[in-house]
Amino acid sequence: MKIAIAIIVVVVVVTIVVVILAKRRSPDAELTPAKKIMPATQVMPPGEISYSQLDITETFGDNERLKSDEWISTSPLNKMTPKGEASGLPPADATADEVYAVADKMSRIRESISIPNDGVYCPICHIANVQLGKLRSPCPKCGRPLLKFGWD
Ligand SMILES: [Zn+2]
Repeated sequence: MKIAIAIIVVVVVVTIVVVILAKRRSPDAELTPAKKIMPATQVMPPGEISYSQLDITETFGDNERLKSDEWISTSPLNKMTPKGEASGLPPADATADEVYAVADKMSRIRESISIPNDGVYCPICHIANVQLGKLRSPCPKCGRPLLKFGWD
């Protein structure tokens, strides 16, 4: 009788161990192929477009018409983009210093990438010029360092 009980206990313990091991193995076995099938795609939700400058020009190809010493007026994105703050733009009523701080950060990112035809602009005076050589030189109107500007 004692032997019978001992055998039952052993069988129960072995069964429990087998079930635990099976459970541990099965999630891995199922996950591995699924991971391979589904690549980690990240879709950017609308409204989260990030900008690399605060101003734009009204028309395409302005840089091709401009003479190297000419300045063109630009339009501030934060005044024409609803919910622009969600995309990293300063609020429409931001002060000049706040606007410049954001533009400076964006310019540093843009300066780290070589983009052909980039020029310079002042996010406070809203003027742009085609000469990238003027980068970080004083704005002719306010004296703040000029930032990197893309035309398209
Ligand atoms: Zn300026």
